[in-house]
Amino acid sequence: MRVALVTVGDELLAGDTVNTNAAWLGEQLTARGAKIERVITVPDRVADIARVVNEYRAEYDAVVVTGGLGPTHDDLTMEGVAAALGREVVTNETALDWLTEEGGYARGDLADGTADLPAGAEPLHNEDGVAPGCVVDSVYVLPGVPAEMKPMFEQVADRFDGTPTHVETVTVDEPESALVDRFQALQERFDVKVGSYPGEHVRVKLESTDADAVAAAADWLRENATLA
Ligand code: ATP
Ligand code: MG
Repeated sequence: MRVALVTVGDELLAGDTVNTNAAWLGEQLTARGAKIERVITVPDRVADIARVVNEYRAEYDAVVVTGGLGPTHDDLTMEGVAAALGREVVTNETALDWLTEEGGYARGDLADGTADLPAGAEPLHNEDGVAPGCVVDSVYVLPGVPAEMKPMFEQVADRFDGTPTHVETVTVDEPESALVDRFQALQERFDVKVGSYPGEHVRVKLESTDADAVAAAADWLRENATLA
């Protein structure tokens, strides 16, 4: 399953907030075997949200959108997603009932628009906040606040799948440039993807859907490189 992630928020673009949602969702989806192929951050602007959601839903099996939920003036995500799908934004009675029955809010205390979702969307209840998320077509809309986003993602996590890959990391004490021949040999001998991540040492990440291939490649590299 190929997935695109859209994180919404001016504060993410300005660097005021670190985009931990992208990292967390990337990790979660990858662990389930889904392939994250795009991560984009867009401003709190309906046209920008609508444009990328429209483009990505045509290209990917699912689009996950986080941030910009709720009824305040800069929360425009539902409007953008609805526009991308050619739907209206309407009050979702199921979401509203949940907020008043389970959430403990009186109807009159909820700001106008709190339960507004794209027409026909499946609401996702927010156990840790107010604004509901939703699933509409292949678009999953989640809150920006990490403590709200994570449990809401768990509600739909099993809808994301694929073939999980096996990974082994070998840390090598040689400069990356000296390892070119070993990388080439690894790719010729084993059916694995080889990733090279320099830092204080070089972390060589070996990845495949075949666990034996990963183990054999890691053993070979340990024998043929100076380990850190
Ligand atoms: P709420 O329903 O509470 O209004 P929201 O979905 O509208 O939440 P935002 O208004 O976009 O979320 O962001 C609320 C806060 O959540 C931000 O101030 C920021 O601290 C955090 N946040 C938003 N997006 C991200 C992200 N991608 N990574 C980490 N934190 C984020
Ligand atoms: Mg908000």
